Amino acid sequence: MTTNQPAAPPAGPVLGVDVGGTLIKAAAVAADGEVVARLERPTPPARDPDTVLSAVGSVVETLRAQVPDRVEALGVAVPGIIDEARGVAVMAANLGWRDTPVADLLSAATGLPVALGHDVRAACVAEWRLGVAKGGSDVLLATLGTGIGAGVVSGGRLLVGSGYAGQLGHTVVDPDGQRCSCGQRGCLATIASATAVVRRYAERTGGAEHPDGTPALSARDVAQRARAGDPAAAAVWADAVGALGRSLAIAVTVFGSELVVLGGGLALAGDQLIGPVQDSLDEWLTFQRRPRVVRAAMGAESGVLGAALLGRAALEETPVT
Ligand SMILES: [Zn+2]
Repeated sequence: MTTNQPAAPPAGPVLGVDVGGTLIKAAAVAADGEVVARLERPTPPARDPDTVLSAVGSVVETLRAQVPDRVEALGVAVPGIIDEARGVAVMAANLGWRDTPVADLLSAATGLPVALGHDVRAACVAEWRLGVAKGGSDVLLATLGTGIGAGVVSGGRLLVGSGYAGQLGHTVVDPDGQRCSCGQRGCLATIASATAVVRRYAERTGGAEHPDGTPALSARDVAQRARAGDPAAAAVWADAVGALGRSLAIAVTVFGSELVVLGGGLALAGDQLIGPVQDSLDEWLTFQRRPRVVRAAMGAESGVLGAALLGRAALEETPVT
């Protein structure tokens, strides 16, 4: 054996964990990209750093025990302001983390190399490396869920901004609009997140019950009511689409995106979202390249797969970007 050959990359599986406010989702992903095991657990309601960290550690150990091969690394995707280079959750309010050195703490707990990433950027990496944006150099992915986040690839590089990039949901589209959780008024997320669509429909109709009395509607239900001719639903949906087109036009103009990928709960409306957002975006563009608007391919698993990609990239010491 020669000594000058670079070592072969470790061949075992890596774990990807997506830590959300509601669920901790995890998967073991083999070197060829195949998911070999999955696990999902509720996120503990106690929002203190240690409780959520030990829940993540427990998910990791349980999944590890299900995988026959030696697990090589761990990638963890988290919402909030995430400093990926330092492995620190600067602010993840849903999880009780503030300036928490998540990568170091989980590495000490599990003995694995750990890469920490932002959940939406991880989803963007998954779609960019494996999914609908594969091979693209100028891609914007927006997830439309409880809030709105974006992952931006520009010139073939993922933009991180020391953790602050991608806060598309907090671009202001209506200065006189409703107060956002961030303290500002009229942010995109107050009009076009899945949560906002449901809330705004309830405000117009006095309630959001199904006819059978089930308490909550989903954004997809509001979309279906809009399609069926419900004027309140149609107005709420049109507002969401218009606001998205406007914010996306600004982002596209800044980043030169040529593909816009929409994911999250609102994207479950499929063609009822994609086509109208494409039209709304096009209205605002003049000289710019006209990006294609498409639906994310990976659904709820993109965060987990992206986290695993981050874990594998850290292991191989090759930046994922
Ligand atoms: Zn805001």
